[in-house]
Amino acid sequence: MAACAGGGAGSGSTPAPTAGGGESKPAVAGGKVGVSMPTRTSERWIQDGNAVEKQLKEAGYEVSLQFANDDIPTQAQQIDQMITQGVKVLIIASIDGTALAPQLDAAAAKGIKVIAYDRLIRDSKNVDFYVSFDNFKVGVAQGESLIEGLKASGKPAPWNVELFAGSLDDNNAHFFFNGAMSVIQPMIDSGDIKIVSGQTSIDQAATLRWQQETAQKRMEDLLTANYQGGTKVDGVLSAYDGLSRGIITALQNNGYSGTVGAGFPVVTGQDAEIASVKLIQDGIQYSTIFKDTRLLAAQAVKSATDLLEGKEPEANNTKDYDNGVKVVPSYLLDVVTVTKANITEALVDSGYWTQAQIDKGV
Ligand code: BGC
Repeated sequence: MAACAGGGAGSGSTPAPTAGGGESKPAVAGGKVGVSMPTRTSERWIQDGNAVEKQLKEAGYEVSLQFANDDIPTQAQQIDQMITQGVKVLIIASIDGTALAPQLDAAAAKGIKVIAYDRLIRDSKNVDFYVSFDNFKVGVAQGESLIEGLKASGKPAPWNVELFAGSLDDNNAHFFFNGAMSVIQPMIDSGDIKIVSGQTSIDQAATLRWQQETAQKRMEDLLTANYQGGTKVDGVLSAYDGLSRGIITALQNNGYSGTVGAGFPVVTGQDAEIASVKLIQDGIQYSTIFKDTRLLAAQAVKSATDLLEGKEPEANNTKDYDNGVKVVPSYLLDVVTVTKANITEALVDSGYWTQAQIDKGV
């Protein structure tokens, strides 16, 4: 789903972030920073890209910002170009976390610092720092909101549930799924939740490249194969808003209607994408997880500045993100679960979306 131009985080009207970006001028102002984002098809990455670019420029850097169309060779080529252009730091949100080792070797050979942005880059020692959200907690929050929604739905347990995870080549997808299952599995064990399809592993639940259409198709197939003869879906764990909208469309095409609590299944999400926030306001999607991209951008800029000044960036986690070669020191931000009850407080009052944008859903 395409983002609305200039909307939300990164637009000129958003309040200054509070995580420290732009507060200190780098000693090396004027240096160039390469920012590599995975895709424009999900608006969060546009907002991330815009916020990082804006805050880097405010801190005195030149910026080369590229989006890779969810295509791994394109991302590798764009990073190669940034290295040739003489960037001093690379800030990378990878498509496939295991595919960039050659680029990182080339960067290291030139003394270029590398920050993995939101998604950990795996299988390389040349990752200097990682900025992200607490991805396990994101999954826990998704699982908890699914259970909260089921309990509030008015239907008694057991509840029929299906599971949708993200792309297996994205390290985060595993953290989200493990976090969610840490609260859902005990409910499966107690019999309160039934995964009617039996598809309970991340391999079965995964969605390559986080594609909405793929999720819609899988939900349609699950409905056809498992929900005939009066069996109804009560809830769907969905790892990302784009998937959620595909799942919701499949449900609606199969005769599910109305709102959550009045017959429509509980569907979770992630990223507070504008189309999903509207669906939440309308009572159709139950929840999303809000990750403030402005704060993540600020943390990335702060870490880049520290690295360029020869300082260790401040980490608040030095144990959880092992990339297969080393534990990458990390700074993890908190997230907020958003339901219909707190849209205004979490998203409008913080300046992330305006009420008018939410009402339009674009
Ligand atoms: C991000 C999520 C996002 C997903 C799909 C993940 O790596 O952490 O915020 O929903 O990618 O773009």
